[in-house]
Amino acid sequence: MKRRIAILGATGSVGQSTLDLVKRSPDRFDVIALTAQSKVRELAEAALATGAKLAVVADEGRLPELRTLLDGSGCRAAAGAAALVEAATGDADWVMAAIVGCAGLLPTMAAVEAGKTVALANKEALITAGQLMIEAASRSGSTLIPVDSEHNAIFQCLVGSCGDDVSRLILTASGGPFRTASAEQMRSATPAEAVSHPKWSMGAKISVDSATLMNKGLELIEAYHLFGLGSEQIDIVIHPQSTVHSLVEFIDGSLLAHLGTADMRIPIAYALSWPERMQTPAARLDLVELGRLDFEAPDLERFPALRLAREALESGGGAAIILNAANEIAVELFLAGRIAFHEIAAMVADALGQTTAPAPRSIDEVIALDSATRAKVSAAAHESCS
Ligand code: NAD
Ligand code: MG
Repeated sequence: MKRRIAILGATGSVGQSTLDLVKRSPDRFDVIALTAQSKVRELAEAALATGAKLAVVADEGRLPELRTLLDGSGCRAAAGAAALVEAATGDADWVMAAIVGCAGLLPTMAAVEAGKTVALANKEALITAGQLMIEAASRSGSTLIPVDSEHNAIFQCLVGSCGDDVSRLILTASGGPFRTASAEQMRSATPAEAVSHPKWSMGAKISVDSATLMNKGLELIEAYHLFGLGSEQIDIVIHPQSTVHSLVEFIDGSLLAHLGTADMRIPIAYALSWPERMQTPAARLDLVELGRLDFEAPDLERFPALRLAREALESGGGAAIILNAANEIAVELFLAGRIAFHEIAAMVADALGQTTAPAPRSIDEVIALDSATRAKVSAAAHESCS
């Protein structure tokens, strides 16, 4: 039986890698729906190449263009937030959640509530609505398969584990482009420098998060929700080769690691074929050529974002939503050249220092706190920039 799939965020880095794998194994997959924010040309091209039944553009102003591009193809064009939810909840049984940011929360949550198998790349959705999403998955019978390489690595290491036998998770981090830079050099870092990741090719937002190490902080919160361990049981180590994608320590002292080349098609393929495996064109690891594996402790002075994320996780309530929203705004401002690199973490720290909020009881409350934080952080930035 073919797996019927939908890809939310099909034009992005994860979306394109997913499509690459799907096109290589047409006998395994039926593409039901694809979505994008505004790149209608790339979206239509992917829809025509895969025979998708539905193509959704979030930006409603681009719908006429998408309709024209798909005219006569048999693929229906749609637009807007309700259509994104339709793509997530329709005939697909497997949904790749690869929209970036909290913008992906509603369709991702809808897929979870509809009981789909959800391949979760959109970490911001889980970070902001973690508890609600995990509860919804257990109610609906939805399976969440982590796509983030570290969490996918842990998911693979946990095969055969009963859960109670795990004592610690170790998330690895490449250290990003500024691993060896001085605090002074980082103050004048440009967007181009920040997005040029030494190991992974990714979208702009996650690339900046990797440069501040906020990405690892978000991944800490992601691991907390996915694997149900306390903050004190989740360690982070810098591993510049990005070869060991993460590790699980068991109660007997065994440490299982997942290794591979830095190619997102490996974790995406595991999510696509789970519980089986499938072929990928990813380069194979040559251990002799690699020669060595290095590990070091993260520097929380130069990378305060990592500390802020752990504090947000440990303080609980709505802190992770505030952390995430402030970070999304700060990263946008940095990419637009409006603030300096070191101001990203400073803006997040300010937002966390100014507001506390109880844990949200519904997705509406998550969205309300996310929107209020964005408005506050944007207004503060506007004041200090003008
Ligand atoms: P990207 O920027 O390359 O792509 C984002 C996708 O989301 C695009 O298809 C875009 O059209 C869509 N999108 C953006 N804003 C939207 C909106 N408001 N409404 C609807 N659609 C919207 O991002 P990416 O690097 O592919 O990352 C996607 C997600 O996966 C992120 O949450 C990221 O943290 C996570 N992730 C990515 C990688 C990677 O290697 N790229 C690795 C691990 C996790
Ligand atoms: Mg990752």
